[in-house]
Amino acid sequence: MKPTLVLVGRPNVGKSTLFNRLTKSRAALVHDLPGLTRDRHYGHGRVGDKPFLVVDTGGFEPVADTGILAEMAKQTLQAVDEGDVIIFLVDGRTGLAPQDKIIAERLRRTGRPLFLAVNKAEGMARDSVVAEFHELGLGEPVAISGAHGEGVRELIELALAPFPAEPEEAAEDHPKIAIVGRPNVGKSTLVNTLVGEERVIAFDEPGTTRDSIFVDFERNGRKYTLIDTAGVRRKGRVTEAVEKFSVIKTLQAIEDANVAVLVLDAQQDVADQDAHIAGFIQEAGRALVVAVNKWDAVDSYRREQVKREIALKLGFLDYAKFHFISALHGSGVGDLLKSVNEAYAAAMAKLPTPKLTRVLQEAVAKHAPAKTGLFRPKPRYAHQGGSNPPIIVIHGNALEHMADSYRRYLENTFREAFKLQGTPLRVEFKANV
Ligand code: GDP
Ligand code: GDP
Repeated sequence: MKPTLVLVGRPNVGKSTLFNRLTKSRAALVHDLPGLTRDRHYGHGRVGDKPFLVVDTGGFEPVADTGILAEMAKQTLQAVDEGDVIIFLVDGRTGLAPQDKIIAERLRRTGRPLFLAVNKAEGMARDSVVAEFHELGLGEPVAISGAHGEGVRELIELALAPFPAEPEEAAEDHPKIAIVGRPNVGKSTLVNTLVGEERVIAFDEPGTTRDSIFVDFERNGRKYTLIDTAGVRRKGRVTEAVEKFSVIKTLQAIEDANVAVLVLDAQQDVADQDAHIAGFIQEAGRALVVAVNKWDAVDSYRREQVKREIALKLGFLDYAKFHFISALHGSGVGDLLKSVNEAYAAAMAKLPTPKLTRVLQEAVAKHAPAKTGLFRPKPRYAHQGGSNPPIIVIHGNALEHMADSYRRYLENTFREAFKLQGTPLRVEFKANV
């Protein structure tokens, strides 16, 4: 499981600058995904062999008790509760602010693992810049410069020290499914329909404090594991109030899954939040099946309307299958699972080098990459660099000059040749030296 780092601090201490630095390389990889807005607050990062999720909580004004600032504080505290490590940013140039003390006190009460980062410390003597922040009583402050990158790697290594490096891909033999979507779209109804009454073998993953839960079930002789977000699970418990929608838990469930099922509500318009979750699934590289739920409750006029809206707003999910289902009555759910199987198989597919290279060479023969300036990129051979998502690494000359449109052309060609329905696909170029 990837740990989640949560960036907290008062406005203007440099949270979003640090966020951008931590997620940058990754963002460059996915910059042309239309589902992702520029003002994202959730992203992927990696330091060495440790991948992580990072959350920028925005400004934290702990003194407000009503209005939008109070709402932000509430969301920040929820993120703090759900994250694995908190990074509390303060500003080394303005020095210790009264607000920092209030935030420190709130954070201390949560008992979460916490690192204090004194930002904007470039060009300043470390000892003098951190000195006054000892007063916060949060351990040894770490001096960093988010803007210049100084100390950032050390800070993240420190924060991630208790977490294991990326595990070797375990040989999985059945899909792990995350059922995700906005509140009230029908996720728990779908879970119950899939798992049935005898939803038994529920267990919390040992050795983690995290609140996700794995539920095994069988259908038509095949095994599946559902990753239940707490919001889904708690509905079944009469004593607990309906859990608030949790973005972090949704993201963690997506990370832990091979296949995500994104549930939409046909009675409601496709919302930005739907597109955000979809974009995140794509960025995480997970296979995807979309379930447009409550199909029983809409008339034919609305059905056409929904389909048009999906084409407009979720058109970037062109590799995913869409199913129009009723979780309540169970209609369409069998076919949905077939697509889950298909997407899982595609995500895990073994792509032999000879065939990859043959498909590549045929694609190049049909349509050669354009010359950029003095360079004409020349792809020569291909091999598989990973699964879930399948990564296809292409070797050749001057590949750093390859146009993005050509990458997409190759992606589509490989997808068709290997019948990779339901999974994103990554084509990477390695220039030979
Ligand atoms: P946020 O409100 O906490 O997200 O803060 P921002 O990331 O928007 O940064 C606030 C201001 O501080 C911006 O003008 C940044 O350019 C500046 N800033 C951020 N990090 C650094 C840093 O490491 N050094 C310096 N000197 N300025 C920084
Ligand atoms: P969740 O918050 O996403 O887990 O949503 P729920 O499963 O709790 O469902 C929210 C509401 O939608 C409940 O009142 C369900 O009975 C209803 N619902 C769920 N699936 C369907 C469906 O397929 N058709 C109809 N008509 N209602 C549904």
